[in-house]
Amino acid sequence: MYPIEWPYKQLLDELHDGVYFLDKNRNIIYWNKSAEMITGFTSEAALAHLNCCTLLVHADKHGEIVCNDKCPASLTLLDGQLHSSELFFRHKDGYLLAVSIKTFPLRTEIGEIIGAVAIFIDNSPREALFRELEQLRDRANFDQLTSIYNRSYGETLIAAKLVEHQKGDRPIGILFVDIDKFKGINDTYGHAIGDLVLKTVAKTLSNSIRNNDYVIRWGGEEILVLLTGNFNLKGLERVAHKLRILVEQSNIYTCDHTIQVTVSLGATLARQDDTVDTLVNRADHLMYQSKKAGRNCVTIG
Ligand code: GH3
Ligand code: MG
Ligand code: MG
Repeated sequence: MYPIEWPYKQLLDELHDGVYFLDKNRNIIYWNKSAEMITGFTSEAALAHLNCCTLLVHADKHGEIVCNDKCPASLTLLDGQLHSSELFFRHKDGYLLAVSIKTFPLRTEIGEIIGAVAIFIDNSPREALFRELEQLRDRANFDQLTSIYNRSYGETLIAAKLVEHQKGDRPIGILFVDIDKFKGINDTYGHAIGDLVLKTVAKTLSNSIRNNDYVIRWGGEEILVLLTGNFNLKGLERVAHKLRILVEQSNIYTCDHTIQVTVSLGATLARQDDTVDTLVNRADHLMYQSKKAGRNCVTIG
């Protein structure tokens, strides 16, 4: 049985999507040119195989093999319905490629199911594009060393939160966090260990904040914590002390040493007429007061 009459076969051959026809036993009986292009298998090779699964091997997005019971073509042959899914096909060269596939029943004039048609597109370029976009977004918004937000994203974020604050009087808090005597860490243990210290402090801070708060690498060893949500000056002070203590309790393990560092903090709430600069500068000056007071402490203002 060959279900495709000329000129339909020519039409299907010209389609951009991969198309194949299966009989009731899932034997491939037609395989168009795009299916060849996408999978690498020629029409002769496809038709010579026992069924579509022995040719392609289907896995779902979790990597689970779906041949037989969950293969969309089998489901269509069973229930006569349209099925669509995101799958991986095995290319002739051995690697797996991501495809979107839809299957439709083939019926006789009296409605008896005699096979199925599968139409699929290659998702690999789309997936690669998504991955690339994600990487670009990460590079644009996140600091490469510490994986917390970078300064440019932080400035945008604070500016946006200030607008919300000025409209609705929702509190915003800034903690200016500076690692104490960090130059000494670099001088004693080397720059790579200094980097490890920075990463550890950033991680401790990120792990200790709530959903509405953000950790931003502002400069070399200066990190901002932006607090939004429901809190007052007393609450800000509590968070600042908590973060100070958690950093103090963190250990940085190297081959030969366990290093501990402390941080000095300045903490302030946004005022109605604040800009990003005035808000952050105030927090910076308060942090500087903590340095003058002997470090490893918090100054609120
Ligand atoms: P203080 O307690 O007064 O803050 O002293 P400090 O030594 O921390 O301050 P200072 O500003 O003198 O030194 C900051 C050092 O941070 C100097 C710079 O080399 C180092 N630094 C800045 N960025 C990085 C980085 O990405 N990695 C490493 N390892 N060091 C950095
Ligand atoms: Mg500093
Ligand atoms: Mg410092």
